[in-house]
Amino acid sequence: MANSSEQERKRSRDRELGMHRDITRRDFLNGMVVAAGGALASTWLPGSVAAQTSAAAQDAPGYYPPALSGMRGSHPGAFETAHSVRDGDFWAKAGKPVATGETYDLIVVGGGISGLAAAYFYRQHAGPSANILILDNHDDFGGHAKRNEFRPGGRLLLTNGGTVAIESPFPYSNEARGLITELGIDPPAFEKKYSDNEAYRGLGSGYFFDKETFGVERLVTGAPGGRRGASGGKWGDFLAKTPLSAQAQESIVRIQEGTTDYMKGVPQAEKKARLSRMSYKDFLLNVVKAHPDVIPFYQSRTHGLYGIGIDAVPALDCWAISFPGFQGMELARVPSKGLTFTALGAVTPQADYHFHFPDGNASIARLLVRSLVPGSAPGHTAEDIVTAKMDYSRIDHGDSPVRIRLNSTVVAVHHLGDSASAKEVEVAYARDGKVYSVRGKGTVLACWNMVIPYICPDLPTEQKEALRYGVKVPLVYTVVALRNSNAFSKLGVRGVSCPGMYHSSINLDQAIHIGDYKPPRSPDDPVLVRMLRTPCQPGLPARDQQRAGHYDLLTTSFETFERNIRDQLARVLAAGGFDPARDINAITVNRWPHGYAYEYNPLWDSDWPEGKRPCDIARRRFGLITIANSDAAAAAYTDQAIDQAFRAVRELVERRKATSS
Ligand SMILES: Cc1cc2nc3c(=O)[nH]c(=O)nc-3n(C[C@H](O)[C@H](O)[C@H](O)COP(=O)(O)OP(=O)(O)OC[C@H]3O[C@@H](n4cnc5c(N)ncnc54)[C@H](O)[C@@H]3O)c2cc1C
Repeated sequence: MANSSEQERKRSRDRELGMHRDITRRDFLNGMVVAAGGALASTWLPGSVAAQTSAAAQDAPGYYPPALSGMRGSHPGAFETAHSVRDGDFWAKAGKPVATGETYDLIVVGGGISGLAAAYFYRQHAGPSANILILDNHDDFGGHAKRNEFRPGGRLLLTNGGTVAIESPFPYSNEARGLITELGIDPPAFEKKYSDNEAYRGLGSGYFFDKETFGVERLVTGAPGGRRGASGGKWGDFLAKTPLSAQAQESIVRIQEGTTDYMKGVPQAEKKARLSRMSYKDFLLNVVKAHPDVIPFYQSRTHGLYGIGIDAVPALDCWAISFPGFQGMELARVPSKGLTFTALGAVTPQADYHFHFPDGNASIARLLVRSLVPGSAPGHTAEDIVTAKMDYSRIDHGDSPVRIRLNSTVVAVHHLGDSASAKEVEVAYARDGKVYSVRGKGTVLACWNMVIPYICPDLPTEQKEALRYGVKVPLVYTVVALRNSNAFSKLGVRGVSCPGMYHSSINLDQAIHIGDYKPPRSPDDPVLVRMLRTPCQPGLPARDQQRAGHYDLLTTSFETFERNIRDQLARVLAAGGFDPARDINAITVNRWPHGYAYEYNPLWDSDWPEGKRPCDIARRRFGLITIANSDAAAAAYTDQAIDQAFRAVRELVERRKATSS
C-alpha cells in the first residue's frame, strides 16, 4: 500500500515536472540516437550494447549533429568500442580489419582542436595536396569544442557544448596565436565589437539553499561581492536572509570581510608553501577556524574551474582565484611555486579580453574544418562561420585531400616493420559494425593519453605508464531551451549558485551578437539556460574522484538527468512563476566523462623535476607515431592543444627527414 502511494506520488510529481512532454529531447529514444532526418547504420559494438545504439552515416541527407539534443558530448555510440578495447574483449568479437586500400601522408587520431590543428600545420608544411585522414569516434568533429543548436519557432539559438574561452593562463605561443590569426580571430578586437547585448542588464545573482542540504528551501538574491551583477551590500545583511546557522553566518562574515593574517610572522614564501599543501576546506576549518556549517556553502565553488570541490583544491590556488579568507595575509600576486596552471593564470593574466563565440570554441573547430576541407561550409570570415551551415557530406569526400571520418574509433596503431626504420604505419578503426585499416606515412595521436596504451601496445612500458597517469576530469554542461526568461526577470537574477543541488549553478547563457547571429533581446524571447554538474566524490584523492565521476556519468540515464533538471529549475525558479511542464522546450546534456586534461596539483601529485612529469614522458615520439592533445601538456587549454599539435607535427617531419637521408 505504502509502495503504491509512493509510486503515485512520484507519477504525480513527474506530471507536474512535465516528464511526459514531447520536447525535442525525444530524438534520444530509449538510448538510440536518431539523426535529424537521417538514415541509421549501426556503429561497431560488442554484444548486447550493439542493439541499443546507432548513428547515421555522415554523408546521409540531413546528417547534422549540432542540432541533436538529448545526451550529447560523449553520446551513446561514441565510447563503447574504446571501452571494449580497454576491457580486452574487442578483438575476440571483431573480425580481421578490412584494408580500405587508402594511403595517406598523415593520419590523425582525434578530431578535436589539437587533431584539426595538427592537420592544419602538416598541410602548411607539406602543401595543399597533402593527403590527410582525421579519424574521430564521435558523430561530430571538434572533440570538446562542440556546438549545440536549437531552433525554437525557427529562430537559431547557439551555445557551446564544451570548451568556450579562448584566453589561457599561458601566453599564446607564436604558433597558437598565428593559427587563430590566420583563421581570422582577433579576440581583443572582437571583445570591443561584439560585447554582451542589453538583454540581461539589471539582473544579479543569487544562492539557492535546498532543503536536503540546508534544512530549508530558499532562494536568496542580491549576493554581495565580485560576482557579475552582484550587489555591493554587506555580507551580514545577505546572510541574515539565508537559512544558515548563526555560527555559520558569523564565520562567513569573517571569511568574506575579515582582515586577519592567520599566519602572522610567517615569511611570505613559507605561507604560500603551506597554503599549497592544504585544501581550501582545511584552510577554512583549521586555519580560519570557521564553523563546519560553512563548508556546504563553499564546497562547489571550485567545480567549474577544477571539476572537484574545495576539499581537493589547494588553498593557494583559491587565494589566486580570489576566493575570500586571505585579505589580511599580504600575499603578493606574483607567480609562485605550488600554483596549478589554472591559478597561475589568475595571478599573471595573459589576456585583457573575455570574448568568446556564441558556440564557444566550436567556432575555432569549424573554422579549421572550413579551411581544411574546401566546400565544407560557406563564407570566409570568423564572423560568418557562426551561422554557416556545415555540409557534413563534404568532410569525408574523395575530392578533398583532407578527409574527416566520424563515428570511427581507432583500435590499433602499429608500424609496418621496425619502429626505428619503418616508412609506414597501419591504423585500424571500427565503424559501422566493421573494422577497417588504412596506411599512412606517419600518425599524430591527438586522442586522449589514457587511450593510447590500448591502441598502441608496442610503446615502451615507461611511456605507457606515463600515458595512464592523468585521469581526465568529468563534467557536464547541461543546456535547457526555455520558452522565455520571464522567471529570471521577475526574480532579478541572471545566475543562481545551488551549492547543494544536482547541478551546482544555473545561468542564462551569454548573449553575443556577432555576424548574422541574433541572441535573445527581451525576457519574452526564447532563451538558453546553462547548468553545470560535476560528479565528484568529496573526500577521495582527486584522481579517484575523477574515476568515480566517469562511472557516475556513464551509468546515469538521460531520464534521471531530465528529472533532476526539471525538479531543480522548478524549485529554484518557483517564485518567478516558472512551470517546467510549460516552459521547457528542449534539453541537451553535454556529458563529458573524460573532460579537462588532468593538471598536476600539489595536494595529490609529486613535484617532478622539469622534463620528468608524466606528460613529458608520455608525449615522446615513437618511430612514426607522435602524440598531441592537451593531455600531452597536462593543461586543459586551447593554446596548449594547438602547441602540442605543432610539436607533434614537427617531430614527425624531423623523423621522416632523418630516416629518408
Ligand atoms: C566541458 C569542457 C569545457 C572546457 N572549457 C574550456 C575553455 O573554456 N577554454 C579552454 O581553453 N579549454 C577548455 N576545455 C579544455 C579543452 O579540452 C581543450 O582546450 C581542448 O579543446 C582540447 O582539445 P584536444 O583536441 O586536445 O582534445 P579533445 O577535444 O578531447 O579531442 C580529442 C578527440 O579525440 C577523440 N578520440 C579519443 N580516442 C579516440 C580513438 N581511439 N579514436 C578516435 N578518436 C578518439 C576524442 O573522442 C576527442 O573527440 C574544456 C573542456 C571541457 C570538457
